[in-house]
Amino acid sequence: MNVYDSNRMADIMHKVGYHTVNESHNADMVILNTCHIREQASEKLFSELGRFRKVKSKREAEGATMIIAVAGCVAQAAGNEIIKRAPYVDIILGPQTYHRLPEMVAEVSRSKRKNKDSQVVDLEFPKKTKFDYLPKASVAGPSAFLSIQEGCDKFCTFCVVPYTRGAEYSRSIESILDEAKQLIESGTKEITLLGQNVNAYHGLKEHSTRKQEFGLGYLIRRIAEINGLKRLRYITSHPKDMNDDLISAHGEVELLMPFLHLPVQSGSDQVLERMNRQHKVKDYILVVEKLLSARPELRLSSDFIVGFPGESDVDFEATISLIREVKFLQAYSFKFSPRPGTPGATLENQIPNNIKDSRLALLQDILLGHQSEFNKSSIGKTVPVLFDRRGRVDGQLLGRTKFMQPVHANLDDNYMGQVSQVTIDTATSNSLGGSVTK
Ligand code: SAH
Ligand code: SF4
Repeated sequence: MNVYDSNRMADIMHKVGYHTVNESHNADMVILNTCHIREQASEKLFSELGRFRKVKSKREAEGATMIIAVAGCVAQAAGNEIIKRAPYVDIILGPQTYHRLPEMVAEVSRSKRKNKDSQVVDLEFPKKTKFDYLPKASVAGPSAFLSIQEGCDKFCTFCVVPYTRGAEYSRSIESILDEAKQLIESGTKEITLLGQNVNAYHGLKEHSTRKQEFGLGYLIRRIAEINGLKRLRYITSHPKDMNDDLISAHGEVELLMPFLHLPVQSGSDQVLERMNRQHKVKDYILVVEKLLSARPELRLSSDFIVGFPGESDVDFEATISLIREVKFLQAYSFKFSPRPGTPGATLENQIPNNIKDSRLALLQDILLGHQSEFNKSSIGKTVPVLFDRRGRVDGQLLGRTKFMQPVHANLDDNYMGQVSQVTIDTATSNSLGGSVTK
């Protein structure tokens, strides 16, 4: 979502005459878009800020200026700390106010002209959302993100999202369809619908007198009707919101890709309970079974947290057996990171770091094994690949299979943005290589 938000900030600033540059020493403005989900992600901000402070001083010594803005969830959660630790930051804005960036920049510029140093801080959760103000998306490619939902009302005990992104909110069906059409007209072939709780989507139709809400299954079917779209995905889902209509969309909508990211966090009911995940392991398995009967080729990826307070060896083994049972193709796995202000941070029985480390290593080893095995089983197969970027080597394009495996092939730019049939001849644990079947 931060990639999407960053692109939208670029769109907004583009409207007022800014364009993106590759090097910070050429930049009149630097925006750091931040993530607060784990401590490590947050801490990165301050080391990056130190770097940009030097660039800013150097530019100022040369008579130029540089506005530094900190956007996103660290700004939202730790605005005061940023003001204290980095007083040279000009703008601090949360994830829900970035449509106002041009006004904030104008205010900072006015102060600078008067030789005054002042900080603009905007951490509001406005009633009318940013989506009502954002310009049309201009930064897109063959594969694009589209935010349809934001925020969360679930309050898992480890998670900062409900505090930093705010209450759950769904965009209207029309505004999403408009943005999807516009992306497809500009050449996008694959859309990934985004939300912190994307399958909790419950959107209204703008001009309907009935206040009827429509779920993600309905939205997927509507987007899939747009001519020119080749692939559709959505991320990130909560198991509790995988309703039957959405599951049946997986069986009916061919261009909905058969690869689903469905975080489970733990395979132990006791841990899930303490995490306030609001479902049991058996509920998760039932959802997986239903998905597989709707779309037998479907495969899953997931998120795991190891070392949540109170996690015993038995709890951890339950997670490992769930991983073996579902055979996740891929996963994001993390050591529990106590986040200030969340209930999990002060729970008893915090797990020592060395135990977290060894559990994480074991879990990642098993997951990597699944990934390697699946990649190796692709050798000799001919599979559809959407090429969406240039490779590191000249004359090479990079793309993705239906299951998100990265594939490289020696191809010219005519294949960019196309879904081509590729015969796979090499596989590592992370990627595939092949050639296009003529
Ligand atoms: N809405 C999604 C997840 C959003 S956060 C869901 O409900 O599953 C993305 C991932 O970050 C989570 O799935 C979790 O695995 C990880 N995460 C969130 N808070 C964390 C914390 N305090 N420590 C470690 N990992 C965390
Ligand atoms: Fe965070 Fe996801 Fe839980 Fe919401 S459902 S609190 S976003 S982990």
